[in-house]
Amino acid sequence: MSDFSMELNEDQIQIQKWVHDFAETVVRPAAHEWDEREETPWPIIKEAANIGLYSFDFIANCFADPTGLTMAIANEEMSWGDAGIALSIFGSTLAVAGIFANGTPEQQAEWIPQCFGTPDDIKLAAFGVSEPDAGSDVSSLKTRAVYDEATDEWVLNGTKTWITNGGIANTHVIVASVDPALGSRGQASFVIPEGTPGISQGQKFQKMGIRASHTAEVVLADCRVPGRCLLGGKEKLDERMARAREGKKSSVQAAMATFEASRPLVGAQAVGIARAAYEYSLDYAKERKQFGRAIIENQAIAFKLADMKMAIDAARLLVYRAAWMAATRKRFESGEGSMSKLFAGETAVWVTEQAIQIMGGYGYVREYPVERFHRDSKIYTIFEGTSEIQRLIIARAISGVHIK
Ligand SMILES: Cc1cc2nc3c(=O)[nH]c(=O)nc-3n(C[C@H](O)[C@H](O)[C@H](O)COP(=O)(O)OP(=O)(O)OC[C@H]3O[C@@H](n4cnc5c(N)ncnc54)[C@H](O)[C@@H]3O)c2cc1C
Repeated sequence: MSDFSMELNEDQIQIQKWVHDFAETVVRPAAHEWDEREETPWPIIKEAANIGLYSFDFIANCFADPTGLTMAIANEEMSWGDAGIALSIFGSTLAVAGIFANGTPEQQAEWIPQCFGTPDDIKLAAFGVSEPDAGSDVSSLKTRAVYDEATDEWVLNGTKTWITNGGIANTHVIVASVDPALGSRGQASFVIPEGTPGISQGQKFQKMGIRASHTAEVVLADCRVPGRCLLGGKEKLDERMARAREGKKSSVQAAMATFEASRPLVGAQAVGIARAAYEYSLDYAKERKQFGRAIIENQAIAFKLADMKMAIDAARLLVYRAAWMAATRKRFESGEGSMSKLFAGETAVWVTEQAIQIMGGYGYVREYPVERFHRDSKIYTIFEGTSEIQRLIIARAISGVHIK
């Protein structure tokens, strides 16, 4: 008997069915309304919390899967229902990933449950790295964190932009620069607990897609947090910065550590959107008749669908591989995390556009979900590292050359 299997296990299949059922019966029917309203879908998050899908326990259960696949499976199914609502439900997990990647076990135990709250008291979390002048170039963050020794507090000042759940979150995880001269190696992540004065929402953005997900600026003005809010602790940060000053190597950078862990999951969301568009246009192609026959009887349409299915399956395999590598702590030697997000994101954009083409005019109008799938897909080549940045990571990893 071989140890290798490409079949999902019983637990994974069960969770897949459970999330799919929620996506089909609750999320998909609500998708159009919340896309139009462009607001956080609180009633849907509440329903997810009521059945335990939006909860610390569920996320912990997913991350406990030693194969790493369960969280990817859940993300794909939920985004199949609707990517904007899915991001409202799973947006908090980016902050969770930040705490998980950089926090001590005590910090993880204290802060992660607070990212979800309870069904009667739902909490959201946000992860803020990007700034108006620092998007792809995360080494140039201007948000500063200064240590006040007298009170054992960190004082944060700066503006974060494009932050999912920014300002409406109860817990924010903010990446700030402690020593700007050290670039990314002088940065650290801070938890800003609920009710902390000095953090507020700036502009809320209106978007092309994933419109049920809230995206806004977060302004930090003399925002003071206790010393224990520095993820990983001060001793570790001081050590890391000392090593950086001596020119020694270090493997962990606050923002990068989070993105490494979350890229396959973002890729899984893109796979979910692509699959939704593929399934919808496949059904349509069998129904729609022109010239006296179903349009799928034309190779031009059928081959498109064959290519769409092939690309989606390939994307999912890259996602599963990267999720498995992350869970089993295999090194991403060829940028496998980036590959999964890059390929899945570009596949989602391409597949959803093909789906519109297959549906003709019906694909282009808002009565049908396919134009929304396309609008939703585009963010997957932009956030969590643009496609260009993913290519840069892969190219540097495979070549060992610091390609610019
Ligand atoms: C809806 C939405 C939600 C988001 N959520 C979050 C969030 O929750 N938290 C968070 O921190 N951020 C978030 N972001 C920010 C997102 O991660 C950034 O938008 C993204 O990293 C790109 O940064 P930028 O927009 O500044 O583009 P820029 O970095 O200015 O890039 C512009 C263009 O130049 C290209 N480019 C830049 N540098 C290079 C290079 N060296 N080589 C080749 N090409 C290059 C880019 O690929 C891109 O095509 C979100 C953004 C959006 C739109």
